[in-house]
Amino acid sequence: MTTGSREGGRRMVRALAGGWLVALGLGASAAAAQEVVAVKAARVITVSAEAPVLQGVVLIRGDRIEAVGTDLEIPAGTRVIDLGEATVLPGLIDLHVHLTDPEDAHWEEVLLTTTPAQAALYGARNARVTLEAGFTTCRDMGPTWSYVDIDLRRAIDAGVVPGPRLQVAGNYVSATGGAGDARQFSPYVDVPLVQNLADGVDAVRRTVRTNLKRGADFIKILATGAILSRGIPPGAQQYSDAELRVAVEEAARWGRSVAAHAHGTAGIKAAIRAGVRTIDHGTMLDDEAIALMQAHGTYYAPTLYVHEAIVTQGGELGIPAAEVERARSIAGRAQDSVRLALAAGVPMPFATDAGVFPHGRNAREFALRVELGESPYDAIVAATRVAAEAIGWQDRVGTLEAGKYADLIAVSGDPLTDVRELERVRFVMKGGTVHKDELTRR
Ligand SMILES: [Zn+2]
Repeated sequence: MTTGSREGGRRMVRALAGGWLVALGLGASAAAAQEVVAVKAARVITVSAEAPVLQGVVLIRGDRIEAVGTDLEIPAGTRVIDLGEATVLPGLIDLHVHLTDPEDAHWEEVLLTTTPAQAALYGARNARVTLEAGFTTCRDMGPTWSYVDIDLRRAIDAGVVPGPRLQVAGNYVSATGGAGDARQFSPYVDVPLVQNLADGVDAVRRTVRTNLKRGADFIKILATGAILSRGIPPGAQQYSDAELRVAVEEAARWGRSVAAHAHGTAGIKAAIRAGVRTIDHGTMLDDEAIALMQAHGTYYAPTLYVHEAIVTQGGELGIPAAEVERARSIAGRAQDSVRLALAAGVPMPFATDAGVFPHGRNAREFALRVELGESPYDAIVAATRVAAEAIGWQDRVGTLEAGKYADLIAVSGDPLTDVRELERVRFVMKGGTVHKDELTRR
């Protein structure tokens, strides 16, 4: 017992030290041993500009990549991880996940029957599953129980639980009756702990400030209705132009960006004009929306697999029939929008909405993008370099280059000929630590 509590105390000191290092911008693993590791494989997709694909070695010191090349000198004492015929690539990035939500329950049910503690426990499990699927960085687009995602990010950064590097929303910013208004109950039933509704420019400004003060990394605003809510239809703009502008203006004051959930064309355009960083879902684009994105430097983060999952597995996922029908009615529009964006060359970072469908299946999005005309290489770039740029982390993740975090994954075959290889990730390293290895253990 005594030993147990002393160990607990030590763990607490370590967790606190980790948090402190993160606060200093050094990263929790900066204090880790500076072990030198060489990862060798038949094919290395670096996604860098100079040598996108090569046969070679990634040399890692501590949590960072030191060098990548074909004939690197491997220093004496280096631990060599030989992945043989495998393909190594940068850890994947998903810009749209909901890690703290259970997968088989609708959010209204979650509010009435679960607790934030359950969300945290599920979040820890979902974070590990997502990491083991090859996603070493994710943007969490908001929990049902407010701010649980912030605690999850802190626990991962402190090394308490394994998971992807996270940027988190903390809480939705939604209008009353809009996509983020989960209170579709009787008017006499309330869930007072969830305060994510803001109406009018002053309330939106206050909500943005509150979320950032409480530890959100960015702002998620619901510009239009949603498929999975009974309020305003997904095609309708739910926030006024002025409300959207004030959200971006206030986030910018904090040096932060805004991600807009948007399905309908008018809401998409209003959000782009307001200056949001990403349009998520972006189901109903037209030529003018494409031109606006190009003019404003907006990133378009479509989510194709979630439409398919809702339409084909809606019942099993606990999604009401009316919402399955909503998804069915706009799935074709989502594909048309991706085709338009591909033709125009709009930057299209990888995103999924995992959490609506089971975590760990994120990579199923790749095949759907490739079916619509994106090359497997471009789809990989979308899930690495472009996604890193979209969240402002191009200095630390997204390519295999000296100085970046040693976040890398491997698959057995060649994802450039069969992109579905990415659904079978066999090796995962994050910040120099191996989290999964089905390739070197025989
Ligand atoms: Zn979502």
